[in-house]
Amino acid sequence: MVDLKSMTLEELTAWVKEQGEPAFRARQIFKWIYRGVTSFSEMTDLSKSLREKLEQQAFLTEPKVARKQESKLDGTIKYLWELSDGNCIETVLMRYKHGNTVCISCQVGCRMGCAFCASTLAGKVRDLTPAEMIDQVLFTQLDSGVEISNIVLMGIGEPLDNFDTVMTFLKLVNHPDGLNIGMRHISLSTCGLVEQIDKLAQYGLQLTLSVSLHAPDDETRSKLMPVNRSVGVEKLMDTCRRYFQTTGRRISYEYAMIDGVNDSDAQAELLAQRLKGAPGHVNLIPLNDVEESPLKPSRRVAAFQKRLESHGLTVTVRRKLGGDIDASCGQLRRKAMRGTQ
Ligand code: SAH
Repeated sequence: MVDLKSMTLEELTAWVKEQGEPAFRARQIFKWIYRGVTSFSEMTDLSKSLREKLEQQAFLTEPKVARKQESKLDGTIKYLWELSDGNCIETVLMRYKHGNTVCISCQVGCRMGCAFCASTLAGKVRDLTPAEMIDQVLFTQLDSGVEISNIVLMGIGEPLDNFDTVMTFLKLVNHPDGLNIGMRHISLSTCGLVEQIDKLAQYGLQLTLSVSLHAPDDETRSKLMPVNRSVGVEKLMDTCRRYFQTTGRRISYEYAMIDGVNDSDAQAELLAQRLKGAPGHVNLIPLNDVEESPLKPSRRVAAFQKRLESHGLTVTVRRKLGGDIDASCGQLRRKAMRGTQ
């Protein structure tokens, strides 16, 4: 059986032709997919014989809502989706003034092992398919009735560790007959896989790259993020500078503020130095408490911000949404896995 939703329009066209059908059928099918149909019988402008052929040879993915939580504070909605093989992933819908944003997952679990992150506690189970990534946008939109204008790849998983799938996903999102969302409305967050960042730069996409930095010194960063042990902050920052030179796109540096770990004045000074010549802005994230972790939120966010700003850096502090619904990465999936809610 063929997973039609994971195909680009070009791939779908080639497949349709292989079936002995005219090429224009591919665009018809493609359009139906992005209207969110879940069966071929709904594709009413196809011939009956083609619909039957599709039913025999192909399938359309359809995740089930395993859990849905809606914040009373700010309307944030969190979905726990059950995939066809029983695995679960999370998607969060956030309402901002500048548009409705969906935060999606790219893997079932994660193998990066960051100390503060709930998504990685049980490791990676598998990569998602392009269809399973598309579904998170499509079915969030259909279920909530909210039109989505922005996508952030900041849910469960490491996007650059599922590189080809994410590239296909971006094509499908961007396509006028697909989700039709512009690259400038998309952010991709990485823990800092340098080779893949260089590879991504070659595509010259207009998306926003977020780099999860979280510490300016190797000792702290390697403790928090195992990925740093083989790369180091200096090499990562060199890669970020190259990314900017190649794409002209400023990077957003994510920095989760952790009490007594990465929030000292000396670390703010070092961070400011590190960011010289690497144009971008710093996004300070008040740490979300993860039950299994001893790390606690910093109480020095404002002071840290001031010190960075004194060096002329642009610094924002991420507003916390959905605080009443376990809306940060991996938390709902963890609860479901433990069977505690
Ligand atoms: N793997 C990618 C994207 C997923 S995580 C990455 O590492 O960037 C999305 C963001 O949330 C990252 O910046 C990550 O470091 C951060 N994050 C994870 N757990 C967190 C927590 N408990 N509190 C605050 N930020 C967290």
